[in-house]
Amino acid sequence: MLRTDSCGELDLNDVGRSVTLAGWVANRRDLGGLTFVDLRDRSGLVQLLFNPDVPDAHEKSQQLNREDVIKAEGVVSRREKENVNPNLPTGDVELEVQKLEVLNSSDHPPFSPKKGREEVNEVTRLKYRYVDLRGEKMRDNLQLRHRTFQSIRNFLTGKDFWEIETPILTKSTPEGARDFLVPSRLNKGKFYALPQSPQLFKQLFMIGGLERYFQIARCFRDEDLRAERQPEFTQLDLEMSFVQEEDVIGLVEEMLARVMEETVGAEIETPLPRLSYRRALDLYGSDSPDLRFDLQLVDISELVEDSDFGIFSSTVADGGVVKGLDVEGEEFARSELDELEEKARELGAAGLLWAEVNEEGELEGSFVRHLTEATRSRIVDAFSAQAGDLLLLLADDRETANEVLGQLRLELGRKLDLIDEEEWSFAWIVEFPLFGADGSGGVTSEHHPFTCPAEEDLEILEEEPLSVKAKAYDVVLNGLELGGGSIRIHRRDLQERIFRVLGITPEEARSKFGFFLRALNYGAPPHGGIALGLDRLVMLLAGEESIRDVIAFPKTGMAQSPLTDAPMEVEEEQLRELGLRLRDGKK
Ligand code: ASP
Repeated sequence: MLRTDSCGELDLNDVGRSVTLAGWVANRRDLGGLTFVDLRDRSGLVQLLFNPDVPDAHEKSQQLNREDVIKAEGVVSRREKENVNPNLPTGDVELEVQKLEVLNSSDHPPFSPKKGREEVNEVTRLKYRYVDLRGEKMRDNLQLRHRTFQSIRNFLTGKDFWEIETPILTKSTPEGARDFLVPSRLNKGKFYALPQSPQLFKQLFMIGGLERYFQIARCFRDEDLRAERQPEFTQLDLEMSFVQEEDVIGLVEEMLARVMEETVGAEIETPLPRLSYRRALDLYGSDSPDLRFDLQLVDISELVEDSDFGIFSSTVADGGVVKGLDVEGEEFARSELDELEEKARELGAAGLLWAEVNEEGELEGSFVRHLTEATRSRIVDAFSAQAGDLLLLLADDRETANEVLGQLRLELGRKLDLIDEEEWSFAWIVEFPLFGADGSGGVTSEHHPFTCPAEEDLEILEEEPLSVKAKAYDVVLNGLELGGGSIRIHRRDLQERIFRVLGITPEEARSKFGFFLRALNYGAPPHGGIALGLDRLVMLLAGEESIRDVIAFPKTGMAQSPLTDAPMEVEEEQLRELGLRLRDGKK
C-alpha cells in the first residue's frame, strides 16, 4: 500500500505516530511562513502542516494545486489549542509533513467537490462526475446505496433466496413503456429489446423450480423523462413459488423494516398499514398517498345533490362528485386562494370554491346562500369543521376531483408545514383493479398482463372487465410508489383469456409471448412476487429529491449523458454492418 492510514480516521490516539497518507489536495493556505493543506481521501479530511524547517517538503508544497494527488509522510501531532477545528472529526490533530511526493497533478478543477448542489450547475456536475463524486454528499449517498443493497442481499439470502441474473439482450416485456431496441448484426433486420423488467424470466425461474429468486436488476424503459425517472433504473426484483398475497407482503415488510433499521436506524412497525386502492383515491386522491399528514378528502355529493346550487346538483346528476378539503384554522389571503384556484384549473378542474366557517360555526361564502340552512350545517358536520376553518370544494367528475384535490392536498401539506419530515410512512395499497380503460373502448392492464385476477371476479372477466380486482399490491413510502407486484397467472387457459380481454389476438399472443405460454403448459406452480425501485428507496433514505443524486452516472432529462456524450451518432460503416439506413438522411 502507498499509505499506512486513512485521512479521516486520525485522532488524538495517533499523536506521535509516523504515518503515510495519500489523497487529493482539497485546498492550500499559507500563513506566517507555514503552509497548510487539507488532504482528502474517501474517509475524510485531515490537515497537513508544511514547516520551512523541512525545506524540501515545504518547497514542494508551494507548487500544490487543488485536486493534485499526493503522498505525505510525517508525524501526527496535536494542534495548538487555538487551531483546533471542532467541525472536523480530525480537527484535533495535524500531520507535520517530512516528505511530500506528488503522485499526479490535476488541471484546475471545474468546481470544488465541496461546493453545494445549488452552486454548481447539474450538467457540469454530471460532465465531471468523477470530481463531483469526491464531494461528501455523493460519497455518502453512494455508500448508503451500497449499504442498502447489502442489507437487502443479506436479508434475502437469509430467507433462502438465490440471486440470479437474467438477459439484457432479450425480447419485449410489457410494463407500459416503449422498448429500447438493439439491432442484431448476425440476424439482420432483427432486434433485441432491452428488458423493461425481468418479469417473464423470473416467472420462468418459478416454472423451472427455483422457488425463491431475487435480483438487483437494471430495467430499461423508453419514456419521456420526469424528475424521478431515468431511462435505465435499478429494481429489487423478486419472485416466490407456492405463495399468496399475504406471503409476499409479509416478507417484503419484514425486509423493509430490516433495511430501514440497518441503513438509517429507523424503527418501522409492522404490519404496515393497508389501504384499498378505492379508499386511497377517495380519501387522499392518489394511489400513492402521503400518509405523513391527515387532511382527507371529504365527499359531500349526497348532501348537495338536490341543492339549488346548479353547479353542485348538475355535477352529481351527471355522475360526478362534490368533494373538498377542510383546512383547519387557516386564514388565506385572497391572493393565496386565487393561486390555489389557478393551480386547480391547471390540473384540469373547472374551478375551485371556498367557504369559511364563522365564529358561530356557520358556513359563509359566495355560493352558500344557494344552500338551505340544513344543508350548510350538514356540510360543516361532514367535514367536522370548526370555527375559523376554510373549506375548499370542487365539483367535477370523480377522477378529476380526486386528482386535483390530491394535488392540492400535497401542496397544502407543504405550504402549511403539515408534513413531519422525520417520519417514515409506509403503506400497502391493495385491491387494485386488474384493468383500466384505454380511452378507446378497450382495456389495458393496470400492472402487467401476467397479474392474476381475484378468484371471485373470474366470472365477470369478459362482461365487466373494469370491475375485476387484481391480486396486486403496491408499497408506498412518504407519498411515492416504492414498488408493486402481484400473484401471477400460472395457468395457460386463464392467461389466454386475459390476452383476449386485452384485445391481443391469438397470433399476436403467440408471436410475442409464445415461449411463455408454452412454458405454462409444463407444470407452472402458483407464484407471485414484487419489484421495488431501489433508486427511489435510496433517494428517500438519503433525504434527496432527485434519484440522479443517488445514481453514480445518471442521464439528464433529455436522456443524455453529459459525461460520455451518449447517445452518439455512429459511423456509416457500423450502420451498414447492421443492415440499417437512417431515414430522411437524418444524421
Ligand atoms: N415486473 C413488475 C414491475 O417491474 C413488478 C412485478 O410485478 O414483480 O413493475
